[in-house]
Amino acid sequence: MKTVRLPTGEDVPALGLGTWMLGDDPRKRADEIAALRRGLDLGMTLVDTAEMYGEGASERLVGEAIAGRRDEVFLVSKVYPHNASREGTVAACERSLKRLGTDRLDLYLLHWRGRYPLAETVAAFEALKAAGKIRHWGVSNLDPSDMNELVGAPGGEGVAANQVLYNLTRRGVEWDLLPWMQQRGVPLMAYSPVEQARLLKDRHLAALAAEFGASPAQLALAFVLDRKGVIAIPKAGRIAHMEDNVGALEVVITDELRSALDKLFPPPKRGTPLEMI
Ligand code: NAP
Repeated sequence: MKTVRLPTGEDVPALGLGTWMLGDDPRKRADEIAALRRGLDLGMTLVDTAEMYGEGASERLVGEAIAGRRDEVFLVSKVYPHNASREGTVAACERSLKRLGTDRLDLYLLHWRGRYPLAETVAAFEALKAAGKIRHWGVSNLDPSDMNELVGAPGGEGVAANQVLYNLTRRGVEWDLLPWMQQRGVPLMAYSPVEQARLLKDRHLAALAAEFGASPAQLALAFVLDRKGVIAIPKAGRIAHMEDNVGALEVVITDELRSALDKLFPPPKRGTPLEMI
C-alpha cells in the first residue's frame, strides 16, 4: 500500500475507505460489511466515518466490519460542528467510540467550521489525546484562511489532516490549499474522489481510461493519489467496486496522461472559494 506521512512521522494508507451512506439501508448491510472487509483485506485499512453519517448508523456498521481486527485499521471519525464545544466534543467522541466498539480513534476531525472557536475544539481534541481516546486530530472543509487561523491558535499547529472535496472536476484546492498543506507536511484527505460516481459517467474520462488500460474510477483515484500528501477515501458498498478501486495504485500518471487529464479537466487559473458537498 502506498502511504502518506502524518506530521508526527507516522505513515498511513494513501487509499482508504469512505463510509457515508453505508448502514442506511438494512437490506444492503451484509453486502456493505463484506465490501468493507474486502477493502481491508486489500490493504485499504484507513476507514473514514462520522457521527453525522446516518446519525451513527455508519459508525455502527464500521464497528461491525472491523470487529476482531481493530489493530489493522487507522480509524477516522468526525464531530459535528454543533457538538464541537470543549465538553461537547469529548461527549461526542465517547458516543462515537461506543458505536464503533473501540477505545480509541486514530484521527478525529472537526467536520466543518461552526459557531465554536477553533481554539475551543482544539483544546477538547488535546484533552482527548491526553486521555488516550484519540491519537491525532484534524479538520475538514477548512480553507487556507481558516487553516492560517487554526495554526495561529493555541495548540493549532498540532493539526494532522484537513479533509476536503477534491477530484478531477473539483480542482480548486490545487491553487492554494493543497500547496499550503504540502508546505507544512499536513495531508489532504480527498473526499468524494469520484464525485459520488458522477465523474465515472464522463465518456471522455472513460475513453482515456480505456486507452491507458484502467477503469474510470482507477484513473480518477490515481489522479488525486499522484499528488504529494494526498489521501483518497472513495466509498464503495460493493466488493466489485472495492476490487476496482485498489487497482488505482497500479496506474502511473505519466506526463502524457497528466496533460490529457488537464485538457479534459483544466486546473484552476485563479483562487476560488473552497467547495463542499
Ligand atoms: P465518492 O467516494 O466520490 O463516490 C461514491 C460512489 O461511487 C458510490 O455510489 C459508489 O458506489 C461509487 N463507486 C465507488 N467506486 C466505484 C467504482 N470502482 N466503480 C463504480 N462506482 C464506484 O463519494 P462520497 O461517498 O461522497 O465520498 C467518499 C467519502 O468521503 C465518504 O463516504 C465520506 O467518508 C467522505 N466524505 C466526507 C465529507 C466531509 O465533509 N468531510 C463529505 C463527503 C464525503 P457503491 O457504493 O454502489 O459501490
